[in-house]
Amino acid sequence: MRHARPCPRVRALRAAILSAALLVVPPTVLAAQQTSRAEELLANFSRHLEANRAELIDVRRDIHRNPEVSGQEERTAGIVAERLRAAGFEVRAGIGGHGVIGVLHGSSDGPLLAFRADMDAVRSNAPDPVDFQSEIEGVRHICGHDIHTTIGLALADGFAAVRDEMPGSVMMIFQPAEESASGARAMLADGAFSSDAPDAVFAYHTTPYEVGQIAAAPAVQMPGRDAVRVDVGGEGDLEAVAQAVRDVVSSAATLSPEQAFQPQTGEFVLAQGVGAARAGSGWRVNATFTTSSRAESGRARERIEAGLSELRGEGIELSLSYQERWIAGVTNTPELVRVANASAMAVLGETAVQTVGSMTPAFSEDFGSFQDEVPGVMYFLGVSNTEKGWVGMPHTAEYVADEESIFVGARAMAAVFFDLFERGVPNSGS
Ligand SMILES: [Zn+2]
Repeated sequence: MRHARPCPRVRALRAAILSAALLVVPPTVLAAQQTSRAEELLANFSRHLEANRAELIDVRRDIHRNPEVSGQEERTAGIVAERLRAAGFEVRAGIGGHGVIGVLHGSSDGPLLAFRADMDAVRSNAPDPVDFQSEIEGVRHICGHDIHTTIGLALADGFAAVRDEMPGSVMMIFQPAEESASGARAMLADGAFSSDAPDAVFAYHTTPYEVGQIAAAPAVQMPGRDAVRVDVGGEGDLEAVAQAVRDVVSSAATLSPEQAFQPQTGEFVLAQGVGAARAGSGWRVNATFTTSSRAESGRARERIEAGLSELRGEGIELSLSYQERWIAGVTNTPELVRVANASAMAVLGETAVQTVGSMTPAFSEDFGSFQDEVPGVMYFLGVSNTEKGWVGMPHTAEYVADEESIFVGARAMAAVFFDLFERGVPNSGS
């Protein structure tokens, strides 16, 4: 069919109608038109996701049967890289160990949005309650990273299916060594963001919330962990001095070790692994401090310094090394939480998107290393199923995740991405 070029009069009339229409279209209608493209993308994505349901569950169970501990994620990374390449992603492998990054450009320019999934498993000898048990002795996916990895692959497959309509680009980050809290930093040091930093980065972590629910805090969501070291040298009974230093370090904490698994709502410092040992001709006291905020890290450090100054006597040398955020924790970008919550609510329902109001000191994460670079949000992903008696409490022997969480997580995250492609990433204000 030929496209006839309209005469000038028709063109003028058309322009007049168009400009009049633009003047009278209320903003709400424009907003509705803007979201319709995202809705269409999500509908196509969801259709593709459902069509791949059985295969994605197979992938998850295969990864679950073959868990790999931190730094040894070779097989999992291989599966990930192969699938990303097959889906048309530009793939970089071997980043910061077994890290894999896949980038897929959409049909037009727009934000580059990243999703991070961690891949490693945990040492555990406890029997696996599921039918598709771990085949690797002493290693199990009891932190749900097999679920995170499968969501990353589900998203990658789905984005590839709608690529031609997608007004932006996606970066899928598959991280090794989260359990050793070193993988995120290692990937960044190895150039994960050096050629192309995303405009925002998202992640999930499985939690005992009921399946169907997700939750985020518009602030610090998981505490960071500091590394504390005091070197004791000089003359005299150094062992006795080291014990006194150990007491100073222990007393700088505000929580008892028993409170590590009790959700906290205020500021806190939890000291763990406080120990003194011979080091060369002197002694060394080591500990980790899990703190609710950087301000609290500063206060803890001051308390230690004050205690040490009282111990410094004739011939005694005490030197403190206080490394803040040895593990970065998770600190979400508030404005990004607000807009992402709205997108997720549209898909999952308003009551399905919760606000995290407390922190469990025992649990930290290194996702914050990525958030130190770009705005980001980690959502807790509900994987428990009360009716079936499944409780997704990470790092417990009974850990079982409802696989429906893969599809809940993928749909909600796709909705967040498609909305952000259209609206742009809000200014983080930081
Ligand atoms: Zn984990």
